Amino acid sequence: MTSVEAAEALVAAGLSLGRRGWLTGTSGSLSVVVSRDPLRVAISRSGVDKAALTPEQVLMVDAGGAVVEGAGPASDETPLHLTLVAAGGAGAVVHTHSVWATILSDTPSASDAIVLEGYEMLKGLAGVHTHAHREEVPIFDNDQDYARLSARIREALTRRPACHGLLLRAHGLYTWGASVAEATRHAEVLEFLLEVKGRLVCAERGRP
Ligand SMILES: [Zn+2]
Repeated sequence: MTSVEAAEALVAAGLSLGRRGWLTGTSGSLSVVVSRDPLRVAISRSGVDKAALTPEQVLMVDAGGAVVEGAGPASDETPLHLTLVAAGGAGAVVHTHSVWATILSDTPSASDAIVLEGYEMLKGLAGVHTHAHREEVPIFDNDQDYARLSARIREALTRRPACHGLLLRAHGLYTWGASVAEATRHAEVLEFLLEVKGRLVCAERGRP
């Protein structure tokens, strides 16, 4: 993949996810691996509207998160993207801020993971072929120290290598895939199921 192709793919993903209302107020971030050796990752710039991302707002960072191509600061959450790319083996990472992910990751019943099981939509996740699949989406306490948070995520991924996404409490969803298209599909699947789960939790709470 060239840097031009990477930028085009991230611009398209931002437009698609932004239409769903998952990248509101310059939130969220998008990245894709351009090369593995040396590691080069195309990532959205900090502080811009990812729903209206332009190719110039896609930067290239190295394995340490330093910008090696493009102008401006990379996403604040670059260390998390690099962790998922390096430790998790992701080819692309999508980070969204939906209402339901924000609510559901912060309910008392959601301690350290959201369990999604029995839904046909789960088959949209790579490697899943039955609605009976049990997907555990781990939840991490939010932290502005992204290096520290990355270390916690790296450790957790070794315990849950099969998961397709993770939540930051009262913050949002991270998901990933082999390509931008797959990571975007995973975001759509998980955000759909989080909304289903969230609506169920609200309905149960409203019962007399
Ligand atoms: Zn965020």
